[in-house]
Amino acid sequence: MANRAEARAAASSEDAAVTARAKALLAQMTPEEKAGQLVQYFYLGEASATSSEAMTSAISVEDAVARGEVGSLLLMTDPVEINRLQKIAVEKTRLGIPLLFGFDVIHGFHTIMPVPLAMAASWDPSVAEKGQAVAAAEARAAGVNWTFAPMVDIARDARWGRIVEGAGEDPVLGAAMAAAQVRGFQGEKVGTPGRILAGPKHFAGYGASLGGRDYDQVDLSDNELRNVYLPPFKAAIDAGAGNIMAAYMQLNGVPATTSSWLLNEVLRKEWGFDGFVVSDANNVSSLVRQGAAANPEEAAVRAIRSGLDLSMEMPSRTSPMLSLAQSLKDGTLDAKTLDTAVLRLLEAKIRLGLFEQPYADPAKAKSVAAKAEHRDIARMAAERAAVLLENGKGVLPLDTSKTQSIALIGPFANAPHDQLGPWVFPGPKPTGVSVLEGLKAKLGDTVKVTYAPGVAIPKRINRSFFDDINPPVDLPEFAEADEAKTAAEFDRAVAAAKAADVAVLVLGEAQNMAGEAASRASFELPGQQQRLLEEVIATGKPVVVVLVNARPINLQGAKPDAVLEAWYPGSEGGPAIANLLTGDAVPGGKLPISWVRDGSQAPFSYDRMISHAPWGADTRYWDQASNAPLYEFGYGLSYTTFEYGNLTVAKDAVAKGEPVEVSFDLTNTGSRAADEVAQLYIHQRSGTSSRPERQLKKFRRIALQPGETQHVTFTLTADDLRYWSSVTKDWIQDASVFDVWAGGSSKADLAGEFTVTP
Ligand code: BGC
Repeated sequence: MANRAEARAAASSEDAAVTARAKALLAQMTPEEKAGQLVQYFYLGEASATSSEAMTSAISVEDAVARGEVGSLLLMTDPVEINRLQKIAVEKTRLGIPLLFGFDVIHGFHTIMPVPLAMAASWDPSVAEKGQAVAAAEARAAGVNWTFAPMVDIARDARWGRIVEGAGEDPVLGAAMAAAQVRGFQGEKVGTPGRILAGPKHFAGYGASLGGRDYDQVDLSDNELRNVYLPPFKAAIDAGAGNIMAAYMQLNGVPATTSSWLLNEVLRKEWGFDGFVVSDANNVSSLVRQGAAANPEEAAVRAIRSGLDLSMEMPSRTSPMLSLAQSLKDGTLDAKTLDTAVLRLLEAKIRLGLFEQPYADPAKAKSVAAKAEHRDIARMAAERAAVLLENGKGVLPLDTSKTQSIALIGPFANAPHDQLGPWVFPGPKPTGVSVLEGLKAKLGDTVKVTYAPGVAIPKRINRSFFDDINPPVDLPEFAEADEAKTAAEFDRAVAAAKAADVAVLVLGEAQNMAGEAASRASFELPGQQQRLLEEVIATGKPVVVVLVNARPINLQGAKPDAVLEAWYPGSEGGPAIANLLTGDAVPGGKLPISWVRDGSQAPFSYDRMISHAPWGADTRYWDQASNAPLYEFGYGLSYTTFEYGNLTVAKDAVAKGEPVEVSFDLTNTGSRAADEVAQLYIHQRSGTSSRPERQLKKFRRIALQPGETQHVTFTLTADDLRYWSSVTKDWIQDASVFDVWAGGSSKADLAGEFTVTP
C-alpha cells in the first residue's frame, strides 16, 4: 500500500462492503433466524454425556443447528467433528449461514505456551505475540476460528485462581500484553489468514472479586476502574479485537452483562468498538439468579438492550436468546436492537471468511500442530518467562563440569501435564516435556540424574466441574499407596539428595490449583512439600528450588540456595528449565505481581496512594513485621549484574501536552551476556486527585553483552501523565512536579524530576 491514507481508504471500503453484504443477508432473515444467530452452545459431543452434569445436553445440538437455532458452538477441537456440525449449518439451514467455533485458546492449543502470567513475566510483548500466533495457527487449522482470550483482567489478589490467566497487577504492563496477544491471535485485522478472532475478557473488573473468591461481587470506584482495570481492555480494543466477553459478576451492583454503561457507553461510544459482545457461560440465564430479571425471556431482552449480542449457554436448556423472536412480536424488543446484534455477528463471520471457507482441513490441522518451530517458540517463551528469585551463593547456573550428580526431587519434576497449567483441554492432546526428560536430554551421560518425587500432591478438597473435564493425570503411582510406601518414597528422596552433589527440587501447585474456581486462601506448598524441602535443606547439600505454579509461594522461612520461578512453563518447560539451570539460558524475567508473604497479605499492589499516617505510625498488621511483600513488583535476578546511572531529563519543565524525554545508562557489570528489563516509574507530587506513590510508565527488555553499556531513552507522552480524576469525572493532566525513577524493579532508585507547568 503506497501510504497510510490509501491503506485507511481501502480498509473503510472493505468495511463498507462487509456491512453491505451482512445487511443483504439480514434482510432475508426471519425473526427466528435472527434470534438463532445470537445463540452459542457448549458442545462436547460424546464427551458431554460422560463429563459433568452441567455439560449434559438436554437438547440435541445437531437438531438445533439444523433448525437454524444456533449461531456458534464452543469447546469443540476435533476438525472432523467441527466439519460435521458446520455441514449441518451450511447445508441444512435455509440461508446456510456458517457457525463460529469458539474455544478457550488461552496459552496454546496443541503446543502449550507458558501461562499468560508467565508470558507477562517476560516483560517482552513480542513473546506473547509470537506465542499466541502459534496458538492461533494451530487452532485455526483445526477449525476453531475464535478464542475467548486474551484474559486482560488486572489481578491484585493472588488468592484468586484466575490471576494465572492475566498479566498481573499493573495496567501499563497489562495493556502492553493485551495488545500483543490480540495481534498474535488476530494478526493485523480480523480475517488475517491462519489467525483467529480475539475476545478479550472479562469486561470489566472481574479481577477485583472480593476476597479473591471466584465469581464474587466487585465494587470499584471510577478512579480504580478507569486508571487500573480498564486500560488493558482499551489497549486490546485499539489493537483491533473483534469480540469482547462480558464478565460474570456484578460491578457496583449491576451485572456486567446488563451494564449498558459498560457495553454501550464506554465500549462502543467512547472507544468505538464495532465487534460483538458475548456473555460468559450461562450468564444470560443466570441474570434471573442475579436478580436482574424475573425470567429468562426478560433476561434476554435486558441483555441485548444493554449491548450484549451473543449468549453462551450450556445445552442443558434452550438458550433464552431464542425467545427474542417472540419479544419482537410482543413489542418488548425493537427491531433495530435485534438487527444491530445480528449484523455484528454476520459481519464477524464474513470477515473471518467463513462463507467462502467454512470447513477445516484435518490433515493440515495435524501438520500445523507438528511444526518444530512451534516448540522452539514455546521453549524460548518459557526461558524468557522464568524469574530468578534467590541465588545468594551463586549456586546457579550449575557448573556441569564440576557436578557429577544431581538429585532431581519433587512432585513436579516429572509432571508433563501439570506443568502445562490450567486451560489445557484433553481434546487437542497437548503434551509436555518434563524437567526430568529435559535434564536427561541435556546432560546425557555426563551428569548422573537421580529422580525421586518424594511426595505426591493431595487431591483438592472440593471437587470442581473443571476436574471433570480436565482430570489431573500426573499423580505419581504411590499417591494412593499406604503410609509405609509413602514414607519410603519420602526417605528415598532425602537419601538421593544426600548422595548427590546438588539437589534440584521441583515444587509447586498442581494444574488444577490455579485457574477458574481455583482460589487458595494460603500460599504454603500443598501437601508434604514443605517438609520435604526442609529435610533436603538439612542434608547440607546445595539446594535449588524450581517452582511450577502461578502465584507467590510461602516457603515459611526455608532458605534454599536458589529459587527459580518457572511458572507453569508449558510444553517445553523441561528443556527450558534445563537450559536455565545450566546457564545456556539466563533468567531475565521480572515479577508481574507483588510477591506477598502469604494469602493474608492479599490483595496487594505496589502502586498505592501515600496515606496519612498519624504520629509517624506505620501501616502494619499487629502480627507481621512488615507490610512490604517479600519480593516487589518488577523484581528478578540474573546470572550477571546490572548498574543504572546518569539519569537525565531532557527538559526541567514542559507545558501540558508536551512530551518528556528521560534517559539513563544501563551497564552489564558481570561476566555473562544477559537481558535486563529496564523500568521507568513516576510520581505526581500534587494535583486534582492524589496519585499513587509510584507508577510504572515505561519498560524495555534489553540484551547486553558483558561490560556493555546502553544509553536508554524513554519518552513520556501527555497520555502517560494523564489520569482519570474522580473530581472532574474525566481524563486530566495536572500541572505538578513529577518524580521519575529508573531501575530494575519497582524499588528503582535512580531518581530525577521534572515539572509540568500550568
Ligand atoms: C469462564 C470464561 C470461559 C468460559 C468458556 C467461563 O466459566 O469464566 O473465561 O471463556 O467459561 O469456557
